[in-house]
Amino acid sequence: MTVRVRFAPSPTGPLHIGGVRTALFNWLFARHHNGAFVLRIEDTDRSRYVEGSIDLITEGLSWLGLDWDEGPDKGGPYGPYIQSERLDIYHQWTDWLVEHGKAYRCYCTPERLERVREANKKAGRRVGYDRRCRNLSEEERQKLHEETNGEFVVRFAMPLGGQTVVNDLIRGNITFNNEELTDLVLMKSDGFPTYHLANVVDDHLMEISHILRAEEWIASAPVHAQLYEAFGWEMPQIAHLPVILNPNGKGKLSKRSARFTSEGMSIPILLHEFPEEGYVPTAILNFLANTGWHIGEDQEVFYMDEAIEKFDISNVNPAGTAFDINKLQWLNGVHIRQMDPVELAKLLKPVIEAHGYEVNAGALLAITPHIQERLKLLPDVIEFTEFLWKAEFEPVAPEELIQNKMDAGGQQKALQAAYDKLQTLDKFDADTIEAELRTLVDEIDVKAGQLFGSLRMAVIAQIVSPPLWPSLEIVGKETVLERLKLAIESLDALIPEAE
Ligand code: GLU
Repeated sequence: MTVRVRFAPSPTGPLHIGGVRTALFNWLFARHHNGAFVLRIEDTDRSRYVEGSIDLITEGLSWLGLDWDEGPDKGGPYGPYIQSERLDIYHQWTDWLVEHGKAYRCYCTPERLERVREANKKAGRRVGYDRRCRNLSEEERQKLHEETNGEFVVRFAMPLGGQTVVNDLIRGNITFNNEELTDLVLMKSDGFPTYHLANVVDDHLMEISHILRAEEWIASAPVHAQLYEAFGWEMPQIAHLPVILNPNGKGKLSKRSARFTSEGMSIPILLHEFPEEGYVPTAILNFLANTGWHIGEDQEVFYMDEAIEKFDISNVNPAGTAFDINKLQWLNGVHIRQMDPVELAKLLKPVIEAHGYEVNAGALLAITPHIQERLKLLPDVIEFTEFLWKAEFEPVAPEELIQNKMDAGGQQKALQAAYDKLQTLDKFDADTIEAELRTLVDEIDVKAGQLFGSLRMAVIAQIVSPPLWPSLEIVGKETVLERLKLAIESLDALIPEAE
């Protein structure tokens, strides 16, 4: 069988991380089976349509590297891939259902439906619509047609008894009593189909072989199964993916409930927040693949080529998984460490620039391998490298130059000795600087920390900084000497004038 799956987001705003996980599992499934991954935009609910969201969705998926084989921008043999451009098709199939007695026109006004709802509520009934329009005589139908100026919706005529069994690839057979299911609307009075009709028609016409979608659609599955039955079409195989829960394990992860953890950590939830906060695509994919699925015993870190090879939908755990922000941050650090420094530098550049600094590409490339180990999120680069980008050097106060068990005079002498030594170096690289200054501390009889700590404050003027030697090399001989001179002079203020 040719595997064809689809990701079918509704353009109702930015993509939620749960939606991204659905896209990822579909993509892994398609790639594992050498099948097709289709992107279809389900925009038939015009009241929830948000301008610009299709771009946010496609840009986000592309940023992650989840490429689709057919879709709105790419085209393909089953297009168009935006539902609002397929209205004729939905009308044609709705009419077919009505003609074959599988669906019917409903003329009930919103006021009447509200009364039905109230009555159901009072009687403690769960069923929805009372099916008044299902068995109208032609005369009654005509009368209502006139009364409502021909405004109607089309409802599906669900079987009134019996059971519908949905075989879910993750959850096994799920059985529904048909009498508990209502006659859902398939075509609305605005001429747009509902999700149910458009989704079933498209999955069939686009020859989708497997539907992997969010758990929230389980309740719709029996209606969809009955729709396939009514059309006489074979239903694709189906799996409902588990939800991602809030960090405390309670309730579905949502923008409102989970912006911060109990420790006050900010949680990205919308896809575009992930790059903003400094997460890298491979770490996000690794994290999401781990959410509800496991690649193997105790293996936390992996890349998508390995996930594609091993992905198996039947191993997805139906239970929800809490969003573990600590795990995500840890993975992000791991993926950053494993990155090629040249690639990492490319990602860091815009982050530093967004902070308002101009970046010297050579300096960034030189420092990157030395800070790579320490970054958890990309913006951590700022505190480690700010000394390289600041337009004006801001020297520390002279007190901050003085190290443990040193006085101003002794510190000044030590720095002066370092100055004299560094001035003589022809080769100003990390190894030479380190070797020379380590020899020097023995010669002038100070402890390594007493000189190097002061040197760091004098030249880098930051407590948090990358390793000293490469930092000095990158700052460069001339600037190092200038800053050292400044520091040495500043210590004068702390030294009592000789009598
Ligand atoms: N448009 C639906 C959504 O955004 C798709 C559900 C499905 O995959 O069937 O959730």
